[in-house]
Amino acid sequence: MAFALAASLSAVAGGMSEARAGATVCELDEGELAVSDLPSGSSVIQCDAVGRVVTYDSTGVTVPEPGTAVSVDAMSTDGTSHGFTMEVAADGTVSYDLTSASVDLDGTGSDKADVLVNPARTAGDLSLEPDDADADASDAGTGAEVAEVDAAASPGACSDGTYATKDQKEYGIYNWYIGDGGLPAGLSKSDALWSFYEALDNITESNNNCGYSDQVGAHTANFLDYTSYEADVNSRDQCTSRDGLSTWDAGNLASGTVAITCSWTWPTPGVKNDLREADVRFNTTDYDFTNKPTASCSNKYDVRSVGTHEAGHIFGLKDIHGAHENLTMYDTSIQCSTRARTLAKGDVLGLRSIY
Ligand SMILES: [Zn+2]
Repeated sequence: MAFALAASLSAVAGGMSEARAGATVCELDEGELAVSDLPSGSSVIQCDAVGRVVTYDSTGVTVPEPGTAVSVDAMSTDGTSHGFTMEVAADGTVSYDLTSASVDLDGTGSDKADVLVNPARTAGDLSLEPDDADADASDAGTGAEVAEVDAAASPGACSDGTYATKDQKEYGIYNWYIGDGGLPAGLSKSDALWSFYEALDNITESNNNCGYSDQVGAHTANFLDYTSYEADVNSRDQCTSRDGLSTWDAGNLASGTVAITCSWTWPTPGVKNDLREADVRFNTTDYDFTNKPTASCSNKYDVRSVGTHEAGHIFGLKDIHGAHENLTMYDTSIQCSTRARTLAKGDVLGLRSIY
């Protein structure tokens, strides 16, 4: 409709509409677009598509200016991973990476229980913790925090070397902010600062119990300030236009999504795309979070486990599907588990492949 109106207006104004209409190679319908509406090889310039929303896999991105790629990674509750990357080259040409996660095909035969990395930390220990129901509810109780426990149905954290990477890298320092709205687990701004800080450190320092040294350390994260800016994502898991600040906050996401990361990079042929901004939002409308899961925890997601996973996306890691529950980049967050705070072998190897 808008196009027809514009064409008729230009006909009135200049009488050149026939020639111009004949040169039009792309007409987009109103509303949200599908990937098929703006396929790989099409041009955001010819299609006048910058600022439009392209949806895929229950997520979406706002078409960025030429010379920018945008990536959405949604962490779900149901074992599915959602997201994709849209790249717009400097000349306006569109391309996509529609694989938000990878499955380790070689590992499909190894989904047997593995030896626990640290036998001293077993699920049985949890029953010894004080049953302090209030501790988890308030995040201020004295109940002992749950220990990291390997999921027995998947390879152990230090034996599962599976990883996949995005075309995304932080070449310098990831400077980040905290939004001024509510925060997960009702954390104060200062408590959220330390939780998010630790989550990012878990990635930049390759925090692991497998004996791997840190090779990411030069690429650090640096908290800058609290801000009235927000994570650039809406309640339908669609990345909006970027505002230039990498903001971590909380709000409403699509039901079924625990947290989301939207990343923007500059395409840099031959090497990984250069990260310019990455925003993280926790879905505090549909889910509860805790900063300290105790034995009495139920139906809550650990802020630092979720945060560490999202930080993994920021620094270039993809989700991993399947029987890989002990990876930080496993595509589902496990309630009341702190497992993802500590990187598994595959997470470390993935980071080493980038940094
Ligand atoms: Zn993820």
